[in-house]
Amino acid sequence: MGTDGLANPLIDQYQRVHDYLRISLTDKCNFRCLYCMPDENMQFWPQEKLMQTDEIIAIARLFVSLGVRKIRLTGGEPLVRKDAPAIITALAQMPIELTMTTNGVLLDQCLDTLVATGVRSLNVSLDTLDREKFAVLTRRDQFERVWQNIQLSLQAGLHTKINVVLLRGVNDAEILDFVELTRHLPLHIRFIEFMPFVQNAWNENKVVPFQEILERIISQFEIEKLSDAPNDTAKKFRVAGFAGTFAVITTVSDLFCAGCNRMRLTADGKMKNCLFSNTETDLLTPFRQKEDITPLIFQSVWDKRPTRGTFDDTVMLTDRSMISIGG
Ligand code: SAM
Ligand code: SF4
Repeated sequence: MGTDGLANPLIDQYQRVHDYLRISLTDKCNFRCLYCMPDENMQFWPQEKLMQTDEIIAIARLFVSLGVRKIRLTGGEPLVRKDAPAIITALAQMPIELTMTTNGVLLDQCLDTLVATGVRSLNVSLDTLDREKFAVLTRRDQFERVWQNIQLSLQAGLHTKINVVLLRGVNDAEILDFVELTRHLPLHIRFIEFMPFVQNAWNENKVVPFQEILERIISQFEIEKLSDAPNDTAKKFRVAGFAGTFAVITTVSDLFCAGCNRMRLTADGKMKNCLFSNTETDLLTPFRQKEDITPLIFQSVWDKRPTRGTFDDTVMLTDRSMISIGG
């Protein structure tokens, strides 16, 4: 029950119930993925500007009291924060499904915490199976460690999803190799259409759209459609008889705003009601001033647009990069 007695007061003007919060723990990252941020001249926020451990926990608890049932930790790279295990431990005690998106390079240091606190699923980003290409794409030569950590995640029994951002001419020739991985490994591959953000050199020609991904896979494999949950952003499939699955996240070619249940909290404590909204609501400043931030949360949800519009719309040209919003 929410604070005002309603089952879930986080309902917008279009009757969408918001029960999923993505919390960015930091804008910092130990990788420099080509499609996400430049290698140089990155200005990161000072530590005091970020939500502190107790602030994250208290604000998350408030969201949970308002009806949030799922929290995803993201960033930047969430595991570069030294207090990530403490945050995970505290959030895992709340009545929510807790999950995380990580580049996986520090996962071995946190896996015990994830398992011990009952986290059941994890998204690890891996855009290529080729070590040299990995070093070019992430600007860090860490393929082996990420791949080993994916194996560790599987061995620990975590439902392990692999996020693959497809860039035409860069890694789209590996679509079938990723699907092939699911033959024996219970991995869940999620091909993500390349999205535009500031400083990421987005170009429509680099996007590999859903239909094309599917056609390439169908040319090689016999696939079956799996059912998608009402709020799913992924269209899920399986190759008949394979251990794992694959999905496509069609952010560019097909809007999924109608079923959106997501809210975002940036690492500096700003609430965003959409990844692509160009407005945000500062929760951290009033929270630090001991004000009640509940009305601000309601207003932000209420103000959410019905759709994010098209990529030509100015609404798409958010002035924050992916890392500062939290992917
Ligand atoms: N550092 C973590 C990681 O890479 O998994 C978490 C943050 S990252 C911003 C979250 C997800 O957003 C990753 O799967 C990443 O590949 C994806 N991403 C980043 N920039 C993107 C873009 N321009 N288009 C589509 N996906 C993107
Ligand atoms: Fe870092 Fe993730 Fe962005 Fe890559 S996608 S630079 S790992 S935040």
